[in-house]
Amino acid sequence: MSVENLVLPSGDIIVAHRFGNPGIRPFVYLQGGLHADEVSSTVALEQLVRLLGELVGGSCIRGEIVVLPHCNPIGLKQFLLGRHQGRFSLSDGSNFNRGFPDMAAMLRPVLDAPSADFGRDRVAELGRHILTRQGTTGPTRALQAELMRLSWGADYVIDVHADMEASVHIYSSAVSWAKLRTLAGRLSARVVILAEESADRPFDEAHSRAWQDLGLPSSTASCTLELRGLSDVSAKTASNDALGLLHFLGDIGAVEVAAPSPPDPDTTAISLEDLEFVESPQSGIVMHLVDVGAPVTKGDIVARIFDPTNPRLDSAWTDVATQRDGCVFARWHQRVIQAGMPICKIAGSGLGGKRETRLSD
Ligand SMILES: [Zn+2]
Repeated sequence: MSVENLVLPSGDIIVAHRFGNPGIRPFVYLQGGLHADEVSSTVALEQLVRLLGELVGGSCIRGEIVVLPHCNPIGLKQFLLGRHQGRFSLSDGSNFNRGFPDMAAMLRPVLDAPSADFGRDRVAELGRHILTRQGTTGPTRALQAELMRLSWGADYVIDVHADMEASVHIYSSAVSWAKLRTLAGRLSARVVILAEESADRPFDEAHSRAWQDLGLPSSTASCTLELRGLSDVSAKTASNDALGLLHFLGDIGAVEVAAPSPPDPDTTAISLEDLEFVESPQSGIVMHLVDVGAPVTKGDIVARIFDPTNPRLDSAWTDVATQRDGCVFARWHQRVIQAGMPICKIAGSGLGGKRETRLSD
């Protein structure tokens, strides 16, 4: 067990907690706080570090585990007009969870070399070497390169986030999900969204897709785990989430821990196309009518928007209906909304509504 302080070129420090021995598999990497305001992830992983620390004395760590409760010290200190801003970098405007290094593109020239050893450990070592040597432009890219270096070659990568107001849900790919299934039951995730490519290289896909793109049989099983909403930071949920994660580490053989069998997950796995973003048809004040986690049927009014600039009160309210059956698993957290912004997300089925093919920023 060790604690590593990694100093970025910006002078900011990432704290990484290491358990087990380097090179022992499974290698599991967990990080929280990449979107620096989504800190239900941070308090859960802090609790997980404590739980893992208790296992060290009993030699119950079977693999290599690296945990970063908050991996984004740059975003953590970003305040604008007195409000914290953790999703986008104030230095360049980019989303912290987009544009991670394209490992396949970086490794392909090396792996094309004749008589190269393409074993998983060798590919992991080469990738880390390239990441260490390459230059980066700007603090955000330097942070992303460091996070990729720490995690590259892991068997499991779990990037822990939070949505705005939400129940626990998970983004992953079909190939990854086959190896991560028990995570849903352990964390009581009701919704799992599966996509091969959902956006411009978020952290989890930068891992899973790289191995696929290189055509290598080994792969990293990765996911983005959304631990409820921005305000859901509590001792009780943090400790429950940490215990769920610990039991998942037991499921995959990374730790030896007494745990009940994985619960049968009450989970709906959907494709990105089955995700409905209900958009606000106008600017105004949003009043949600459906709680997070509640089922809806096509035509249900999920919210009403009040336009205070309309002098006629009888026409100032606009009802917004879902266009599919499903479950509201996330809602927008602010109550002043612009036309076109998402009011809520529905895990649905069937046609209707705006079908998603990419996640927004
Ligand atoms: Zn996030």
